[in-house]
Amino acid sequence: MTFQLARRAERMNPSIIREILKVTERPGVISLAGGLPSPDTFPVEAMREAAQRVLRDSPREALQYAASEGYGPLREWVAASLNAHGLQVDASQVLITTGSQQGLDLAGKVLIDAGSRVAVESPTYLGALQAFAPYEPEFVSIACDDDGPLPDALDAAKGARFFYALPNFQNPSGRCMSEARRAALMAKAQALDLPVIEDNPYGDLWFDAPPPAPLASRWSEGTVYLGSFSKVLAPGLRLGYVVAPKALCPKLLQAKQAADLHTPSFNQRVVYEVIRDGFLRDHVPTIRARYKQRRDAMRAALERHMPAGCRWAVPSGGMFFWIELPAGSDAMALLPKAVERGMAFVPGAAFYADHPRLDTLRLSFVTVPPELIEQGIAALAQTLKEHG
Ligand code: PMP
Repeated sequence: MTFQLARRAERMNPSIIREILKVTERPGVISLAGGLPSPDTFPVEAMREAAQRVLRDSPREALQYAASEGYGPLREWVAASLNAHGLQVDASQVLITTGSQQGLDLAGKVLIDAGSRVAVESPTYLGALQAFAPYEPEFVSIACDDDGPLPDALDAAKGARFFYALPNFQNPSGRCMSEARRAALMAKAQALDLPVIEDNPYGDLWFDAPPPAPLASRWSEGTVYLGSFSKVLAPGLRLGYVVAPKALCPKLLQAKQAADLHTPSFNQRVVYEVIRDGFLRDHVPTIRARYKQRRDAMRAALERHMPAGCRWAVPSGGMFFWIELPAGSDAMALLPKAVERGMAFVPGAAFYADHPRLDTLRLSFVTVPPELIEQGIAALAQTLKEHG
């Protein structure tokens, strides 16, 4: 039997990162490739106690079908926490999703027709390209500098369905947009009537100072905001949220209903139990401290080992270093050599909607401890010296 595939299925590709992760699971390979949060930061004890409380106090509600919008108290919590960050939202605008990845899919489903234009940063989050691609958009890549997307470059996106933006510690580049860039970018988007999808899973992982206010605080009627519990609690919970302008909420909700009825209510209730009394106030700083230490270890190792001609900016939060290799390098061709030497990275080409830069790569500094970061970077540098 040969199945006739839908056109959208033709647009689906295996994530190169997952393919690389398969290779790098080989024992002995130091993987700086995956964007996995450090499991040492997962609040196992708090989760255990909260799960027990939920099963003791509301077992049947937690195990029953529930509202597609999400668990009411958790939606209230999300709205309150975003309002503290300068947004003005109420809980009715919060849709709890199965990871923020689902938020990307729902936004794509609701906003993209075949052939419609979607603007993305260059480079951008690979998972968003994967989420949007099946809806058959034409991607418009927006040029970026070290401060993020160039506001004037948005002119090319006039008439697009939306601009997908990652203001805080971007995956993959690690950069964080300045206040001035946010202001200029949002003024431009508003002038063009170009909706913005703001994806912010890393905003809480700052090392020195909190990032400026979210893009959505500058144009709430035009911005859809995505958040996640993956990086501040644990990604296996698959818990995220979409906060949308009121006009868009019913459509996102209908798309959510069709996708999975609702996000597991057990997970929602357990997470609410964990965070309701301010747990994250103490917990998130411990993640920041740990990640900052690893960022410093990677910075030191890069400075010590990398050959001349490589360039990087030091990220002030998040999980990634983005390395520009000497012109003419091909990170994809270097990867098997690096794996032979016992380390792995993600070639940067994966993160471009078009015109990929082959001379770039992404390194995660959070998943492995400092000694292994040092060894991994030494192996990368050696590979570059031999084959670069
Ligand atoms: N957006 C970005 C930029 C990410 O890096 C990730 C996770 N890698 C996600 C969204 C999805 O996160 P989750 O579904 O776990 O909330």
